[in-house]
Amino acid sequence: MQKSDLLEKLQQIVGKEMVTTSAAELYCYSCDASQVRGMPDIVVRPVSTEQVSRIVRLAYDNGIPVTPRGAGTGLAGGSVPIEGGIVVDMSSMNRLLEMDLDNLQVVVEPGIVQEKLNEALEPYGFFFPPDPGSSAMCTLGGLIANNGSGMRSVKYGTTRNYVLGLEVVLADGTVINTGSKTTKSVAGYSLTDLFVGSEGTLGVITGAVLKVRALPKERSVLLASFENPELAGKAVVKVLSSGMIPSACEILDRNIIEAINTYDPNIGLPRAGAILLFEVDGTENTVREGIEMIKEACSSLASSIRAASDKKERDEIWAARRLVGAAVSRLDPLRTRVYVGEDIGVPIKELPGMLHKVSEISKEFSMPIMTYGHIGDGNLHTGMCIDVLDEKEWDKLNMAADKIHRTAIEVGGTVTAEHGVGSARAEYMGLELGKGLDVMILIKKALDPKGILNPGKMGV
Ligand SMILES: Cc1cc2nc3c(=O)[nH]c(=O)nc-3n(C[C@H](O)[C@H](O)[C@H](O)COP(=O)(O)OP(=O)(O)OC[C@H]3O[C@@H](n4cnc5c(N)ncnc54)[C@H](O)[C@@H]3O)c2cc1C
Repeated sequence: MQKSDLLEKLQQIVGKEMVTTSAAELYCYSCDASQVRGMPDIVVRPVSTEQVSRIVRLAYDNGIPVTPRGAGTGLAGGSVPIEGGIVVDMSSMNRLLEMDLDNLQVVVEPGIVQEKLNEALEPYGFFFPPDPGSSAMCTLGGLIANNGSGMRSVKYGTTRNYVLGLEVVLADGTVINTGSKTTKSVAGYSLTDLFVGSEGTLGVITGAVLKVRALPKERSVLLASFENPELAGKAVVKVLSSGMIPSACEILDRNIIEAINTYDPNIGLPRAGAILLFEVDGTENTVREGIEMIKEACSSLASSIRAASDKKERDEIWAARRLVGAAVSRLDPLRTRVYVGEDIGVPIKELPGMLHKVSEISKEFSMPIMTYGHIGDGNLHTGMCIDVLDEKEWDKLNMAADKIHRTAIEVGGTVTAEHGVGSARAEYMGLELGKGLDVMILIKKALDPKGILNPGKMGV
């Protein structure tokens, strides 16, 4: 089909103002927050499920690639149209359709920004727990498609745990509903789970029924300092195996501490080889008891432990933690943070060993690695900064990232705990999933026989 014909047909579906082929706008859709690049031919912004269905059907009939996009904050190139075609920008479908709080659930369109949902829920005393560092920007559709998570997942779980049902447009334009509004249902295969984390390769999510929870009454934050990251890793194993599950458990290594203190000197994090930030939430009693349990579990390993003095300090610490990804670039103005090899997850007891191996890999490739992340989930963000104009630095970075990925898999871990596979990590799927990847490919072929949905992603 000629591009001009495609443009005309899409304009008939969504109206002229909701389609663009302007070079400047297309450029904005050629990347996400990763290093992956790919130019779309056309961008369309539907406002209803019916429009999405007609767009996808048109693409199906003509064999045109379709890449769904939320806010483009992904860190693996998931929403980048590496084979061109149509980008379906879902951000205009952003209505909160129903707040059914007696049933502890909401019905949403996918384009709502995560934080906006929580702003709407807060006055009623509820919240949607998945809490990525990008919550002020990313959409619920992107979170569901990536099964994203964040600081609270150590206690509250990942996005998958909050999706009761989905409305999905399949590759041929058919609209289906998965799941139900009940908290339990075993009727049929769990199609909801199939689409959660499918990164736009199996269907376009046009609606979701999400679980919400009551806001905890109290919170308290503890900062524990350690001589090195391995000791911090050992402390995490001790805390979690003591039966205490904090509502957040984050690690910041020496470089990250310096980056945050440089970014905002008022924060003044203690200088140490590593810091663990613990948050405990719940009733006054459970918080007090939880804090004592963490202190006791860390006491033989930490060089110092202190509680955040008040809500202001607590809020400042979490605001700083959210900025880490950007703050690391402040350490060396000549280098840029590159999101490669940055999202491994390992089983909890492997954390001290993995942290040690990361420092060995850093030495082996003479590549400074700054480690932070949701360590309570076994999730480590190994941040690297390079001179992006220097090919040799790219080579070193790729070799170090490859070793990080392979080491994580060797110890029973994963190359991506939350950021997704996209095209950035697709090459590791065979190694990590084995014959499971063959099953994924069969599912992809069954649901998307022409391979139009987000082609080139996830190894399928
Ligand atoms: C500063 C920063 C911090 C971050 N911190 C975290 C973190 O703590 N935890 C975490 O998990 N992630 C984090 N991320 C990564 C990113 O924000 C998440 O992956 C987020 O879920 C992506 O949402 P999005 O709306 O930007 O989706 P996009 O980047 O637009 O898309 C992501 C994927 O979802 C697909 N998709 C989007 N919408 C739909 C839809 N409606 N139907 C089907 N498929 C769809 C796309 O095709 C793509 O494959 C961070 C990113 C940044 C920049």
